[in-house]
This record gives sequence, structure tokens and C-alpha cells, in this order.
Amino acid sequence: MDQVNSVVIAGAGIGGLCAALALAKQGIQVVVCEQAASLGEVGAGLQISPNALKVLRHLGLEAELSQFAFVPQHAAIRDYKSGEYFLKSPLGEHAEARYGAPYWHLHRADLHQVLAEACANAGVELVLNAVVVGYRDNTELKQVCLLLEEGREFYADLLIGADGIRSKVREKMLGQERPAFMGQVAWRGVIPVSDLTVDIKPDACVWVGPGRHFVSYYLRGGDYVNFVAVEERSDWQSESWREEGDVNELKRAFADWHPEVSELIKSASHTFLWALNGRAELSTWHQGRVVLLGDACHPMLPFMAQGAAMAIEDGYVLAECLSRYVLEEALQRYEQSRKPRATNIQNMSKANTGLYHMHGGVFGKMKLKALQAAGRFAPNVIQSKLDAVYGYDVTKI
Ligand SMILES: Cc1cc2nc3c(=O)[nH]c(=O)nc-3n(C[C@H](O)[C@H](O)[C@H](O)COP(=O)(O)OP(=O)(O)OC[C@H]3O[C@@H](n4cnc5c(N)ncnc54)[C@H](O)[C@@H]3O)c2cc1C
Repeated sequence: MDQVNSVVIAGAGIGGLCAALALAKQGIQVVVCEQAASLGEVGAGLQISPNALKVLRHLGLEAELSQFAFVPQHAAIRDYKSGEYFLKSPLGEHAEARYGAPYWHLHRADLHQVLAEACANAGVELVLNAVVVGYRDNTELKQVCLLLEEGREFYADLLIGADGIRSKVREKMLGQERPAFMGQVAWRGVIPVSDLTVDIKPDACVWVGPGRHFVSYYLRGGDYVNFVAVEERSDWQSESWREEGDVNELKRAFADWHPEVSELIKSASHTFLWALNGRAELSTWHQGRVVLLGDACHPMLPFMAQGAAMAIEDGYVLAECLSRYVLEEALQRYEQSRKPRATNIQNMSKANTGLYHMHGGVFGKMKLKALQAAGRFAPNVIQSKLDAVYGYDVTKI
């Protein structure tokens, strides 16, 4: 197979747009097909760790994004009732000094908009109302044909499936298989700080308790607080993966939690409820002239805040591989470079369920106490785990 001059991308999420921008900067002609009628992201926050920020910096977006960022001072894990710290690891200036890039909180809509504008400036063509239904990989023509609803088609040298957890591109490549419900739901919301009745610490904080946990952090320079409240459940019936949540149900579920949580929730007027879904590791991420990235190939529980970060890393690495190698080798190298890392983080995120939800009762609490002791007496052990995630720099490989 030969050099790639044109790419069509299914999905204009954070992963699809990052890939589009990285490819356009390599001089490749890019078309992005998005099913939505208008561009946008859900009204929620995103933790962007240094490993992802290094990519965004390399794509020339750091200065633009910095005006929307909030810099958390610590990553914290706290007890749901007493507020005791099981972990308090420095971020802020420490993250910047240790990893060469800061740890930020961004509103998804801000990141998405900056990416979309950069794509437009780089000559990426965006097609809205473009619902992908499949593709035809035409070896004779040496092109792939992306199939849209209403019989529309797009031809390119390469198709990237960045169409999320329910990816049609993945389905065509590997067969129909619904994502698995992970037995947990997440309420999400954003509250203006002016509505709060409680003081929230400037940290990325995970409050852990039996069968549920609660994440809170500031957004947009500290004007808003984002929350994600996760609860184990076996009764998710809805086909939709996100819907309007009942604020009163949320308030009841966390009513006996530490005031920083229960009071924070009292100020929420609106929330979305998401089923948390996942997939087992895929056998392959590419076939012929088609390749997957982001949630389309490695959806993960958000318990390390790394799903979007992995999609951002994927897009950059894929563009680099395509600029250096002919197609077949590029796709092989991309998968070799990305699959072990993404799968590892997928597994670590899943493993955090037990820690965050105090599985095993007393033993669960003991694990948290062990984490606390490690933080005090062997901080290097914890630091080395974080280093492996945040210290990774795909712009240098
Ligand atoms: C509660 C929660 C909190 C999270 N917090 C964090 C965090 O703090 N940090 C972090 O890094 N990650 C976080 N994540 C994970 C992160 O949101 C995802 O991993 C990331 O958004 C995946 O990006 P993507 O571009 O691969 O897919 P998506 O964001 O799903 O984008 C896919 C795009 O494809 C489009 N599409 C889908 N089907 C079609 C079709 N048939 N035709 C055309 N277009 C289509 C969609 O409309 C969408 O625009 C969190 C996730 C959850 C659920």
C-alpha cells in the first residue's frame, strides 16, 4: 500500500477533531463526517492531564485554551463521610515542573470549539448531518468509500473511525456487538460558583464511599464547579446512554455524605444521567484502509480521567505514523504504539472501581489506608504510577 494524501474521518468528537488537525498539519486533505446537525459537546468538564496537554501544545492550541483553564492544586481521594484524605498528591506548579506541561480542567465545549476552529483554519472540511452507516474498502481502486445515510458516499485513501463507543466503523470491521453496561451510572452537572453554599477546595477531588463515588472540580478559571456522581446499579433499562437525570434522586443518593458533597449537590438544578458502558480489548484496531481511534476502539470507565486524553494521543500518533511510513506499516506501527498503553489504562480505570467504591467492606477501607500510608512513607511509589500516565509524551516518540 502507498502514501496517504486524503483521509475521511467518521465523528467530530475530541478524538476525531484532534486527528483531523494533526493530519491537516501534515498536508493531508481531511474531511470529517459528523452525524449531529451542529457541532458541540456535552455541557460537562474534562480533566486534561499533562500527557494530553503536550499534544494540544504541539498542535498550537495551548495559548488559546489557557484562557478557559482551571489549574487544580492537588489530586485528592477523600472519605465520603469524614472527609479524611487517603491521597493528596500535588498538581499545580508541581505537575508543570515534573511533566513539562500543566494539569488542567476544561469545559468540554471550550476544548471542542477551539479544536473545531483550528481545524477550519487548517483547511479541514466538516460535513454535518452526515450519519455514517458503513464503508466499502475498495482494494482495486486503492480507496475506501465511507457510506452515509441517504446513499451519500465519500472516497479517500484512508478512513478513520472516531465515532465513539457505538462506532459504525468498528461494527463493519469487527461485527455487531453492543457495548457492555458496566453496572454503574453517572450523574453529571455544572454549577455556577455563585450558586454554591459551600466552599469547595481547588483540587481534583474524588470522594469515595460504599458502592459509589463523587468527583468535583472547578472549571473556567473557577467560575463553575463540575461534578460527576457515580453509583453502582443493576437496573439500567434505557437504550439511550444519556438522559435527563432526577436531581432529587441524586440528592437522596448522597444525602448522608460529607457537607462538601451533599451541600454542593443541593445547588444543582439540572443533571444528566449516563449509563457507563465499556468493551473488552478489540482483536485489532485496523483492517485494510480503515483504522479506529478513541472510544471507538478503547472506551473506558472514566475513573482515571484518561478517555479523552487517550483519544488525543491516538490522533497525534496516527498522523505521525502516516507522515513517516507507507499506509500498511503506518497502521501497524500506530496500533503497536497505542494499543498496549490504551488497554493498560482501560484496565487500570476498571480496577479503580473497587478502590473508589470500597469493595470488600473492611478490606476496601484497608486498601485506602494502605494508599494513605504509601502517600506518607513511600510517595515515590504513588508518584511512579502517576508518572507512567502523565509523564508519557507522544510528541517525542
Ligand atoms: C462521566 C465521564 C467523565 C469523563 N471524564 C473524563 C476526563 O476528565 N478526562 C478524559 O480524558 N476523559 C474523560 N471521559 C472520557 C471521554 O469523555 C471520552 O473518552 C472521549 O470523549 C472520547 O472521545 P471520542 O472522540 O473518541 O468519542 P466521542 O466523544 O464519543 O465522539 C464521537 C463523535 O462521533 C459522532 N458519531 C457517532 N456515531 C456517528 C455516526 N454513525 N455517524 C457520524 N458521526 C457519528 C458523535 O456524534 C460524536 O461527535 C469521561 C467520560 C465520562 C462518561
